Amino acid sequence: MEGLRYFEEIASSLDNEEIQAWKQSGKRVVGTVCANIPEEILQAAGLLALRVRAPGIEDTANADSHMHRINCSYSRSVLELLLSGQLEFLDGLVTTNTCDHMLRLASELEANGRFPFVHHFSMPHTLGTSSTEWFVMEMQKMIEHVEASFGTKVSDRDLCESINASDRARGLMTRLNELRKEDPPRLSGAEYLNVALTGMSVPKERFCEKLEALIPELERRQPEGKGRPRLMVIGGGCDSPGFIDFIEAGGAWVVADGLCFGTRYYQGYSDEEAKDPILAIANRYAGRLACPSVMNAFDHNHIMLTQMIRDWRVDGVVCARLKFCDHWAGFRKLATEALQQDDIPVLDLEREYQTTGSGQIRTRVQAFLEMICT
Ligand code: SF4
Repeated sequence: MEGLRYFEEIASSLDNEEIQAWKQSGKRVVGTVCANIPEEILQAAGLLALRVRAPGIEDTANADSHMHRINCSYSRSVLELLLSGQLEFLDGLVTTNTCDHMLRLASELEANGRFPFVHHFSMPHTLGTSSTEWFVMEMQKMIEHVEASFGTKVSDRDLCESINASDRARGLMTRLNELRKEDPPRLSGAEYLNVALTGMSVPKERFCEKLEALIPELERRQPEGKGRPRLMVIGGGCDSPGFIDFIEAGGAWVVADGLCFGTRYYQGYSDEEAKDPILAIANRYAGRLACPSVMNAFDHNHIMLTQMIRDWRVDGVVCARLKFCDHWAGFRKLATEALQQDDIPVLDLEREYQTTGSGQIRTRVQAFLEMICT
């Protein structure tokens, strides 16, 4: 479909034509390595916040000599990007402490990168009032560092404009997500992921223009494939539309997700009327589906996932987690037990970051779909 081509193109690489145009106009780009880093701060300083992905990295041989292979392949692939010179267009980077793999990656990026700006954002690992206060303090520290490094001032008004830009994108993605509730959905899970990845790779205004043009096109679309099993995909480090396509090729639709590169990035809004924009940002990050590294968030996530399963009429959940990712392995165990009690089957797939499919995955997905359909 013509309107989707732009999104496929942007999602297929880390650097893209919009970033080049942005840089040519004298503006700067800062990478972020996790969905827990608030992009609103960077945007408020006039920077483009780019979620770092490593599409096209097949081999992590260089990175493997710095980080042991028991670190997840997302973290090693990002280091490979750095070591092969593919992050040189960035003017800065924000790292975080999602997990030990991410901490190892952060130290390697700091040691081997030549970025004019590197900031470490320390995310809280619990939900609650003190964690929100922590998040607020971390944002204040990030603002001070951004101001000093880029010679700019971030006012409340800048923050409010940045919140509006992110919320506009979130609102459009919510409309897009609604189109996945239909049977058949108006767009496949792979197409949705291409759009979602674009929104974290280009300026928000440009993304919203393109998405506003796409949605009416999709609303007029008459797709085939009614009655196929409807799946939700959850997991970490999954930014591969090819992998989602591979699952759907088995005869299913991926109609919902709980991915850091998908719904988690867009879920919820900041209170645009709030007196304190920093607190409004923190509350939005705390209210959405939480990262499995957040230790007391299982019940919060279970309630949200169950509601999504109901609303999108999901028949089964695929947990696609990266090898050696303990956070998602732990979450998968708890989620499998809880969802199976609600009669929702769960398929556990362990994969590498670059995986788009394999004979073993095909067999397991087919067996899962047959089980759902009987
Ligand atoms: S996929 Fe898991 S191990 Fe890898 S960076 Fe994310 S949370 Fe850490």
